[in-house]
Amino acid sequence: MDVLTEPRVYLVGRTSIDQAAVDQFLSDESTAWATDTDNGSELISELAGRVCYLSFGEKQGRRSNRDYLTNIIAMEHGSVLEHSAWNFIVTGVSRSFSHELIRHRAGWGYSQLSQRYVDESTANFVEPDIIASSQALHDIWFEAVRSSHEAYRRLAEGLAELIDREFPELPRRDKRKRAREAARSVLPNATETKIFMTANARALRHFIEYRGAPDAEPEIRRVAVALLEVMRIEAPSIFGDYETTLLPDGSIAAGTVHKKV
Ligand SMILES: Cc1cc2nc3c(=O)[nH]c(=O)nc-3n(C[C@H](O)[C@H](O)[C@H](O)COP(=O)(O)OP(=O)(O)OC[C@H]3O[C@@H](n4cnc5c(N)ncnc54)[C@H](O)[C@@H]3O)c2cc1C
Repeated sequence: MDVLTEPRVYLVGRTSIDQAAVDQFLSDESTAWATDTDNGSELISELAGRVCYLSFGEKQGRRSNRDYLTNIIAMEHGSVLEHSAWNFIVTGVSRSFSHELIRHRAGWGYSQLSQRYVDESTANFVEPDIIASSQALHDIWFEAVRSSHEAYRRLAEGLAELIDREFPELPRRDKRKRAREAARSVLPNATETKIFMTANARALRHFIEYRGAPDAEPEIRRVAVALLEVMRIEAPSIFGDYETTLLPDGSIAAGTVHKKV
């Protein structure tokens, strides 16, 4: 069993644009538009905003993408940002974290590792920094996690035997599922989970604002800041207004003046 302290955020998918279809639309509308980014997500949000006011053509379509989206954010025209979405895989995070994460509903999609199907006898565990900072507290934590994990393994084995005996007709896969779904009840909140998540730009901004705040729980704040670092590079026109600050405990918080766009 490994003890984890750092989340990993993988950006695995992003919105792209079909330029030929956009060109066809512009031609059908007898207009033109060119912008200064080739980033699909930034292009899509700008295009969506421009459709609202049909602001295409020589004069109206001249602003830079950054200026255009900065104005959209300042005007709180947030629905425009719902058209750009990204896909992430997050690992090295605890089940406590995922309980908080999935409270974010609007604009999000999740697919999380199933403890009913996946054998957790080789699971890893996420230790809160404040516990890791003290050897004595770390020892208490480690022993609690180790003994829960050991109980899980013993229960999974015992349940497998019991289910084999009582329900011999069940397919092997269902027997394993029945054993694991019951045995997992003793696994702690610290158990690592892996989660695939999709979020649009508006939802991500809201998440970073709430969960990157100084008073947010430290593990989810760490993920919010990690997401922000990824998104600042990925889509600076949409996430360039955030600032990070170093807190007295050495951790980082994130915030923006443009609240709840
Ligand atoms: C510091 C902190 C402490 C917290 N403590 C607790 C706690 O102790 N217990 C607990 O249960 N939760 C707690 N939460 C979770 C919190 O209550 C929210 O569930 C979570 O932050 C998601 O926020 P949200 O609903 O704004 O997000 P989303 O679900 O992503 O929604 C985004 C926005 O869309 C709108 N919206 C979404 N759904 C609806 C709807 N059904 N009706 C109307 N408008 C909607 C709202 O404007 C909402 O702000 C805490 C959150 C934080 C940041």
